[in-house]
Amino acid sequence: AKKSNDAQICFFDTDMENAVKERLKIAQALAHAVDKKEFKLAFQPQVNRHGQLIGFEALLRWSHPEFGAISPEQFIPIAETTNAILPIGDWVLEQSCLQLVQWASQADTKRLNLSVNVSSEQFRRGDFVSRVQQILLNSGANPKNLRLELTESLMAEDIEFVVSQMHNLRELGVSISLDDFGTGYASLAYLSQLPLDELKIDRAFVKDLNKQGKGELLTETLISLGRSMNLTVIAEGVETHEQFERLQELGCEFFQGYLFGKPRTDIESYLNQKS
Ligand code: C2E
Ligand code: CA
Ligand code: CA
Ligand code: CA
Repeated sequence: AKKSNDAQICFFDTDMENAVKERLKIAQALAHAVDKKEFKLAFQPQVNRHGQLIGFEALLRWSHPEFGAISPEQFIPIAETTNAILPIGDWVLEQSCLQLVQWASQADTKRLNLSVNVSSEQFRRGDFVSRVQQILLNSGANPKNLRLELTESLMAEDIEFVVSQMHNLRELGVSISLDDFGTGYASLAYLSQLPLDELKIDRAFVKDLNKQGKGELLTETLISLGRSMNLTVIAEGVETHEQFERLQELGCEFFQGYLFGKPRTDIESYLNQKS
């Protein structure tokens, strides 16, 4: 018995060791990924009740010559533990602003909004607001079309700092969305103090919606909460017509998910099919 125990422990150790080694390799590669032009942005459509395109969310894609494509769910948390998230975050904002400038040059795309994910590690930097301002100025993008998606993990920060940072961002003209809403530990007292423009209902609350009305009480509560605070409400992860219909009945105004389109690096087809 002892022998097999040892063997198990040994196996476990090797597994752990490999996981640590892999993280380390990813962390090292991330430090050079911007310079080596290994990132791309994918864009996923956002639509209104009529299914009309109103904008996109920018989602980061990384393809490493040796590791291949790695999901942001895997590499963003690693980038956040090193300082790599800072140049990566700047790059995402720069590219997003360039995209906005390109859209602005054409009548049928100039009203499109772009939502950009901002890591709490980026946001907590004292100079985040001035960096956003600088990137907006350098690119010439219209701040009115830029929306920053923040997450409830900000709640771990000093509330006064978070609120003042958000006010300063909105003074630049950009709007702010609270991403993954409902999954974190935002207290209502905290939430009502935040200068937000939009709540983004997490995909977990969309997943369980169906005609039988199961699992919708919480979703309905989150949507009414947003509306009572005068925020626009968008749902993510909408995959079926049923979910789309239920969300509309529950008062949701904007939608994003595979039903309307997957994130794509080449978005010409989304723009051409626009009515
Ligand atoms: P998120 O911000 O919640 O983004 C939504 C994720 O759901 C995306 O995964 C998207 O591809 C996926 N998705 C969209 N529609 C559907 C659907 O209908 N069904 C399902 N099952 N999934 C859907 P992705 O692109 O892998 O990104 C994962 C996470 O990585 C993002 O979650 C976000 O937290 C983070 N991330 C992505 N890009 C960036 C970035 O530029 N900066 C930062 N800080 N984080 C990013
Ligand atoms: Ca997001
Ligand atoms: Ca989200
Ligand atoms: Ca999410």
